Amino acid sequence: GATIGILGGGQLGRMLSVAAARLGFTTHIYEPGAEPPAGQVAHRVTTAPYEDVQALAGFAAAVDVVTYEFENIPTAALDAIEAVVPIRPNRRTLAVSQDRLTEKAFISELGLKTAPFAAVDDAVDLAEAMEEIGLPAILKTRRFGYDGKGQARIDRPEDAPAALAAMAGAPAIYEGFVAFSQEISVIAARGVSGEVACYDPGANVHRDGILRTTTVPAPLSTAQRTDAVLLAGRILNALDYVGVMGVELFVTPGGLLVNEIAPRVHNSGHWTQNGCVIDQFEQHIRAVAGWPLGDGTRHSDVEMQNLIGADMDKVPALARDPAVALHLYGKAETRAGRKMGHANRRLGPASA
Ligand code: ATP
Ligand code: MG
Ligand code: MG
Repeated sequence: GATIGILGGGQLGRMLSVAAARLGFTTHIYEPGAEPPAGQVAHRVTTAPYEDVQALAGFAAAVDVVTYEFENIPTAALDAIEAVVPIRPNRRTLAVSQDRLTEKAFISELGLKTAPFAAVDDAVDLAEAMEEIGLPAILKTRRFGYDGKGQARIDRPEDAPAALAAMAGAPAIYEGFVAFSQEISVIAARGVSGEVACYDPGANVHRDGILRTTTVPAPLSTAQRTDAVLLAGRILNALDYVGVMGVELFVTPGGLLVNEIAPRVHNSGHWTQNGCVIDQFEQHIRAVAGWPLGDGTRHSDVEMQNLIGADMDKVPALARDPAVALHLYGKAETRAGRKMGHANRRLGPASA
């Protein structure tokens, strides 16, 4: 059978490996860190930095296609791999989504709405952005941010210097604060032949910048649901995308705004493991392997709860709960703010 190479050995790589194995594929993880969670379930692991072009070429030669569980892969690493095997999702998608500014520009050019935004490299840019876009706002580093890291709220003009200092000299983006009624995401998939399948939108609740729960179905009107999946489909088509993508949206009285896109399986799609016959991990493997997409129809309503740090203390009780399916990542060390696993609670059969 074919071998799927996965860049990154975290929990997403782990769950992708399990799904791939179920379809008869072998997986090969490339991960710089020691003892990656995915390494426990993958068939092969290469431990080397992304700067090691030799190791990357060897990895690429040993697999049939390369996918990834995170988007901040150095360009030189991608070049070394792409000289040997295809990378799915494609390079263009990575270029667009690695930088919040290019990402928002791309979304706007598609005619979709985002928060008002402006590039901020220095205090002059920041003063201009505050003047044009107004307050409150969020200043974010353009690259490498996740779980709300690299972000600073600006509520009053006096907050500006500290917010700029928090960027530590990195290029930033100023975003007007969106007064959303809820946050939702669409987990969307596109196959090599261009077919698109979207899971039902889930409602996301964050705490301290980290996703806590995703609940399906999100409380949306039928028209909002349609808007959400249509806009996700447009994004995938425009990128000639292959694989699963997470599209984070803000629901506002003026319609749906795109917060960000993630060119990979997404934490807010973990509910699909117990809400659908084909979950997001299998769907991604199917897409990157050139298989037809599977049926992602929701058979159950689900609440996904992330187990972060000390939440692991809840595991014994959750393990006794017949409505809960546990997914633990096998991380050796529990740390505050670290995603250790998640619990999918079945709320009942799929409601309307
Ligand atoms: P992730 O872990 O999802 O990749 P991230 O670090 O990339 O997160 P964002 O998704 O941009 O960060 O922001 C984190 C959260 O902060 C959002 O889910 C939302 O709750 C809030 N937020 C971000 N941008 C805005 C905005 N412009 N207006 C209002 N709230 C926002
Ligand atoms: Mg993000
Ligand atoms: Mg986000």
